[in-house]
Amino acid sequence: MSACRLCPRQCDAARTMQEPGLCGSRTGPGLFRVARIMAHHWEEPYISGTRGSGTVFFSGCPLGCLFCQNHTISQPDPDMPLPGTDFTVHELAFKLAQLAGEGVHNINLVTASHFVQDVPALVRALRSSAVTIPVVWNTSSYETVTALRSLAGSVDVYLPDFKFWDPDLSARLAQAPDYAHVAAKAILEMQRQQPETQWDPHGLLVRGVALRLLVLPGHHRDAFSIIDWIAQELPPDIPLAIMNQYTPFPNLHAQMAACPEMKRKVTTYEYQKVIEHAELKGLTRLLGQERTAASATYTPDF
Ligand code: SF4
Repeated sequence: MSACRLCPRQCDAARTMQEPGLCGSRTGPGLFRVARIMAHHWEEPYISGTRGSGTVFFSGCPLGCLFCQNHTISQPDPDMPLPGTDFTVHELAFKLAQLAGEGVHNINLVTASHFVQDVPALVRALRSSAVTIPVVWNTSSYETVTALRSLAGSVDVYLPDFKFWDPDLSARLAQAPDYAHVAAKAILEMQRQQPETQWDPHGLLVRGVALRLLVLPGHHRDAFSIIDWIAQELPPDIPLAIMNQYTPFPNLHAQMAACPEMKRKVTTYEYQKVIEHAELKGLTRLLGQERTAASATYTPDF
């Protein structure tokens, strides 16, 4: 890979030790950088079920939100290699086949956008190992339509965040003023690929698109705008998890000096207003969170 353009950053990096990408990647085609593989029990109930979601946390991230709950693996020291281990396609497929053998409900690829070119081969290797459980693409939605088209036929469930609407907000918190524009197009492509939501007899999602919206402190009106778009562009019964788990990490306060409102949790008032707005707009399949979700307890230890 001489000039990477896999994600909307289009940074043209060589992805070598000397020239990492903006996502932190220092590996080219054929290698995944993985921080952790685990049975994850804290996703939505329709993803984690009773036996957990077979989750791969990839290292690095093309979006790089300042407040990321997984910041230790998504935004490490830019002068150091990404934490984690390199896996070839077949090595990772082997590990995931083992996890599937333990009974997890699905294979959940968390923030794999910067490795998207090798994901179809990974899924083919899984299927040839007789792994039949759904493959979940768990994403910030900051990815190109071209990249997503390469996943058609490989991904069963899309699990996209819609993080910001206001370009000024996404510029401040993720250096991505184009975020909403990119994410809207990406989610429409996901919906085009998987227009029907399908559930198994136990209430687990096996096909379709399920959205996530993390309410940010001081920005519940930004969430209103996202909900307005969802109500206008997507089916009213699309699953939407409205999350209040935003946790201000004290060690990130210096980075967020320009965003003082982000140093607290979301209030009950803000969160309820977002839920009410989604109901008002006619969205029928909403999933809320208890206030206790706003805790570092729900952040895996990498
Ligand atoms: S995936 Fe990484 S290296 Fe490639 S364009 Fe995006 S930020 Fe740059």
